[in-house]
Amino acid sequence: MSDPDFIVLGGGLVGSAIAYGLIRQGKRVTVLDEGDVALRASRGNFGLVWVQTKGLGMPAYADWARLSVDVWPEFAKELTQRSGIDMNYRKPGGFQVALGEKDMEARIEVIDKLRAQQGAEGYDCEIVERKRLDNMLPGLGPEVVGGTYCPHDGHVSPLRLLKALHKVIADSYRPNSKATAIRGSAGGFQVDAGGVTHAAPKIVLAAGLGNLPLGEMLGFKLPVRPQRGQILVTERLPAFLDYPLSGVRQTEEGSVLLGSSREEVGYDNSTTPDAMHTIAGNALRIFPRLQHARVVRAWGALRILAPDEFPIYQTLPGHDGAMVATCHSGVSLAGAHALCFAKYLADGALPEHFTAFHSRRFDVPKASYELVDPDHHA
Ligand SMILES: Cc1cc2nc3c(=O)[nH]c(=O)nc-3n(C[C@H](O)[C@H](O)[C@H](O)COP(=O)(O)OP(=O)(O)OC[C@H]3O[C@@H](n4cnc5c(N)ncnc54)[C@H](O)[C@@H]3O)c2cc1C
Repeated sequence: MSDPDFIVLGGGLVGSAIAYGLIRQGKRVTVLDEGDVALRASRGNFGLVWVQTKGLGMPAYADWARLSVDVWPEFAKELTQRSGIDMNYRKPGGFQVALGEKDMEARIEVIDKLRAQQGAEGYDCEIVERKRLDNMLPGLGPEVVGGTYCPHDGHVSPLRLLKALHKVIADSYRPNSKATAIRGSAGGFQVDAGGVTHAAPKIVLAAGLGNLPLGEMLGFKLPVRPQRGQILVTERLPAFLDYPLSGVRQTEEGSVLLGSSREEVGYDNSTTPDAMHTIAGNALRIFPRLQHARVVRAWGALRILAPDEFPIYQTLPGHDGAMVATCHSGVSLAGAHALCFAKYLADGALPEHFTAFHSRRFDVPKASYELVDPDHHA
């Protein structure tokens, strides 16, 4: 059998969305995926398809995140048709609510800065007073003073999304295939995985935190770190929430997801009573009705974060055929990865404005990217 055009390393949401996009472009692809022992953010996230607080400090990322939520409906429709899997994607708009005046002021400041950065045309998020919130989010607690609403936000079942992607890339997908060595030569790359050597002219490193050791195999030190987030899930409740919030969303089945913490604890993805207590406490302040809901599941998962929390897309130094794609927000960006990023790869080059996502941005003094919103969630 002839070699594929691309080997995609990693079959999480990022690798699978890119692989799907490459296949759509008529490319032959092999996806190598490690399997159940790997750290996999794609199986532990909150399921928001979100843009409202994204990109403060990097206009290119605010634009990219917006592009992705704009193409998500088309992406979801096509993926549902091709896979036969309903991913429960909904785009009613989303809220971030403020608990107290100080929180509200902080939110308004972020929105104002994003408006100034993106221009009124490029940024679409409104501040909503408590009275109006009550019409859209019934049952809010007394501490909620207001919030922000973005009509472009939505949510999806991330597990169904991953399942749908795996279904449409099934012919290309190789499970239990941890890449253990990569060799680059003038003709392309050879990758050892699962006892087999795969070869292709181009490779895409899309293995989440697994990109760190993979990058090192080609002499590249990727500046990303793990950050733990814990999530709680309640029993199924009668529908009460028509919109996703950044820390509370109700699934189609009725369960309510509560989250998520942001903890710098290295590669520890366990759950802790303290974080669970804080998450549940905040949720109760937002929706007191949840006090009688039973929590049926909790987990910890690791975000994949660059120092400024924005994505890194670039070819590796000395290896033009090796692309790295790593990001937080792999759910939100799945639309853009499949419909846009994969097309850039298939066409052979990233667009000019993607230089913003190169890791050389970390070579400049830290002061130039300190504008980042400390509270921007997935
Ligand atoms: C708590 C939490 C909440 C989140 N909430 C949201 C949200 O609401 N919305 C949103 O957009 N994003 C959210 N995210 C982020 C999102 O989950 C991630 O951006 C996304 O899952 C990253 O996908 P990935 O494919 O890069 O990495 P992963 O999911 O980690 O997948 C990496 C894959 O690579 C494979 N792999 C690793 N090493 C190798 C190797 N050597 N060879 C072959 N395969 C390998 C692994 O088996 C794995 O399948 C959240 C993350 C967390 C932790």
